Amino acid sequence: MPTRFRLGLGTHNACNREDTAVLNVERNILCPYCGEKIEIILDISAPAQEYFEDCFVCCRPILICYQVDFGEVAELETRAEGEI
Ligand SMILES: [Zn+2]
Repeated sequence: MPTRFRLGLGTHNACNREDTAVLNVERNILCPYCGEKIEIILDISAPAQEYFEDCFVCCRPILICYQVDFGEVAELETRAEGEI
């Protein structure tokens, strides 16, 4: 008779729920290339950020710029690469 380990299904549901300080917010943006709506996660622990995120649909790099004011995303801009 082999020893049976209980998998404990259902006990790990709350694993990632330790959101004492929420430093990530979800936003929907439109891809400047294909116009598809994509969801991005913004890290609001920094006052301002600028980075590239690849579109999930067309895989082209989208420049994402945003500023954080009082723990909220104040300005969010998306641009196509090379566009100023
Ligand atoms: Zn796209």
